[in-house]
Amino acid sequence: MMTPAPLTNLLGLSVPQLEAFCADIGEKPFRARQLARWLHKNGVSSFEEMTDLAKSLREKLPAVACVNTPGIVSDKTAQDFTRKWLFDVGQGNAVETVFIPETNRGTLCVSSQAGCAVNCRFCSTGKQGFARNLKADEIVAQLWLANRLLGAEPSGDRIISNVVMMGMGEPLLNYENLVPALHLMLDDHAYGLSRRRVTVSTSGVVPFMDRLSQDCPVALAVSLHAPNDTLRDDLVPLNKKYPLKDLLDACLRYLKYAPRDFITFEYVMLQNVNDGDKHIEELIGIAKHVPCKLNLIPFNPFPESGLLRSNNDRIARFVNRLSEAGVVTTVRKTRGDDIDAACGQLAGDVKDRTRLSSRQPVNVQTDEKNEKIIQFNLSLAPKSAQR
Ligand code: SAH
Ligand code: SF4
Repeated sequence: MMTPAPLTNLLGLSVPQLEAFCADIGEKPFRARQLARWLHKNGVSSFEEMTDLAKSLREKLPAVACVNTPGIVSDKTAQDFTRKWLFDVGQGNAVETVFIPETNRGTLCVSSQAGCAVNCRFCSTGKQGFARNLKADEIVAQLWLANRLLGAEPSGDRIISNVVMMGMGEPLLNYENLVPALHLMLDDHAYGLSRRRVTVSTSGVVPFMDRLSQDCPVALAVSLHAPNDTLRDDLVPLNKKYPLKDLLDACLRYLKYAPRDFITFEYVMLQNVNDGDKHIEELIGIAKHVPCKLNLIPFNPFPESGLLRSNNDRIARFVNRLSEAGVVTTVRKTRGDDIDAACGQLAGDVKDRTRLSSRQPVNVQTDEKNEKIIQFNLSLAPKSAQR
């Protein structure tokens, strides 16, 4: 017996890829744009509900395509309304996605890999090792699911206006899947975000920074964390392969194509490790070379890291001295730490993971008036629960 061809998961196809898919099944290119709008703008997963598609196409699609998302393992809301989901990507792997509501925007922090191979000393994702790259559909599904899950909430401040690739994993080491996902985030037929509102954060994978500048130049954040090679080799082991000079040159090249005229440097504040006055002077030197904004991240501890957060006076000294020297310096607010959703705490809750095999793909949402809890299987979600 012949094995049937696997179904194509439409969630991970950029609009040009959807056009190619439509051509393969004998459909016109405009069908791709219709499909993208149903899938991403309306959050619809059932072909039957895509009412402006020709009936023949609606009948044809289930044999060749599907709309699959990872299951939801957990859904937690912190006291500051930061919300964190753990999504099951199969074979015991789970990834985390975090929504951070702020006054004028809502930022979704998206994962690119299950685990991470870079193994930075201060990062709990790195400590868990590398499992696998997420597929494009698994990256997009985080946005798709978050939109849908947030959409069920009544207040209008639950809208995703920004995406940062700052969840689990090193996005530029999963380039082939990252780029179609980014294209969907930007495409007007899908999520329609501007390039300034989509940020890729990288530990400094130099060749792929160059490729990104050509293929999809979104805003770039670079995890600097140390202002000299000796320290950076120790904190971010990838530095041994792409040392600071190469990294900073790559930043300058990227800036020619970037949607902003600066690079964001992330700098985790580690007590007695990278928070000395000498480091301030070195940072000023770097900032003279590369137009940048510096974002200081108070270290978020996790068990067995053996590292401490710099104290507030130290962080304030960094801000003052750097600002005096003309370097725009901000301190990242710690969000969602009561549910382990803060930067670097994303590891996939091990207790949750052990339950994966017995878990049902059941989702919990509130109704429009936020009055009662509805439980439903996502693939059978009633139309009223879809946006
Ligand atoms: N791999 C990419 C993106 C994910 S990490 C990168 O490293 O840039 C997102 C940000 O959180 C990075 O700047 C990362 O260095 C930082 N981070 C990691 N662990 C942290 C921790 N324990 N406390 C504070 N920030 C951390
Ligand atoms: Fe990977 Fe980024 Fe964590 Fe480093 S900080 S281990 S690159 S996820």
